[in-house]
Amino acid sequence: MNQEFLEVRGLKKYFEAGRPGLFSKDARKVHAVDGVDLTLRRSEVIALVGESGCGKSTLALLLMGLEDPTEGAVKFEGMDITHLNDSQRKKKELRRKIQMVFQDPYESLNPTQTIEEIITEPLLVHGMANTPDRDERVKKALEDAGLKPAEVYLDRYPHELSGGQRQRVVVAAALVLEPEIILADEPVSMLDVSIRAEIINLLAELRITRQIAVIFITHDLGSVGFFADRVAVMYLGRIVEVGTMLEVLENPKHPYTKALISVIPVPNPRLRHERIILQGETPNPINIPSGCRFHPRCPVAIATCKASDPPMVVVNKSHQAACLLLVK
Ligand code: SF4
Repeated sequence: MNQEFLEVRGLKKYFEAGRPGLFSKDARKVHAVDGVDLTLRRSEVIALVGESGCGKSTLALLLMGLEDPTEGAVKFEGMDITHLNDSQRKKKELRRKIQMVFQDPYESLNPTQTIEEIITEPLLVHGMANTPDRDERVKKALEDAGLKPAEVYLDRYPHELSGGQRQRVVVAAALVLEPEIILADEPVSMLDVSIRAEIINLLAELRITRQIAVIFITHDLGSVGFFADRVAVMYLGRIVEVGTMLEVLENPKHPYTKALISVIPVPNPRLRHERIILQGETPNPINIPSGCRFHPRCPVAIATCKASDPPMVVVNKSHQAACLLLVK
């Protein structure tokens, strides 16, 4: 559990956003990911939380090797995988070991394929379909994803299943490749509230039964509950706070994290706390604000916040946050 097997250092991804302007001879760039450091341990669940457009999905694509970073490095099991060529065996192996579960189970599944064909397809793509245990693997993936007995589902089509069952099929299509990491990008946001917990519980089980690490990407800190071991809060391409789930929920240090926590619905009205409503929209990632990038919306900003980019400050061994108010 303590072994760090995915390590990200100084990762940046800038996209060209247009031609050089009247006042600038450089092409404008979207700073989608702008200097991210992150580690993931075996069987660990980390929640990557932030508003839409903060760069969390781009970060996932970089980890999958589906985008090349502009700068920085990604190490997996001690090996630098930042610039692996598509034809290299290691990259194919990596694509098998890191699987993605997308937000929309309706779009993720081909409506013309049976469930058996959908789960077999990743094996075909990875050249793993011509083995005597192929059918067993497909059934096991379905059953580990909670679709039991598998025989009931093999000949069905996606439209014959409920939303929750379809998302389980998406998870099974990832599991059939025996991944070590699942990158779950908003995996419950399109589901009814009543079945969100089922999918979260499924992912929680898989980290125990299959020792799979999970990066759970979400805009809604409340949807994570205590399922995650750690939480990393992202704002405009950077991680601004990281710590254990308990520390961050109970003792948040960054004003942005405090705002996210303040809007989590609380069932008991007596425990309700003051909502912190942030002013304005998230700034355009083409024009990152000077100093602390959160300063235009920060309710407790001070004069120096406009000029100084806050460093990551160590709160304790497992908790860090980037805010000038923490600098001693
Ligand atoms: Fe707010 Fe300043 Fe801290 Fe940034 S550095 S989060 S603007 S108080």
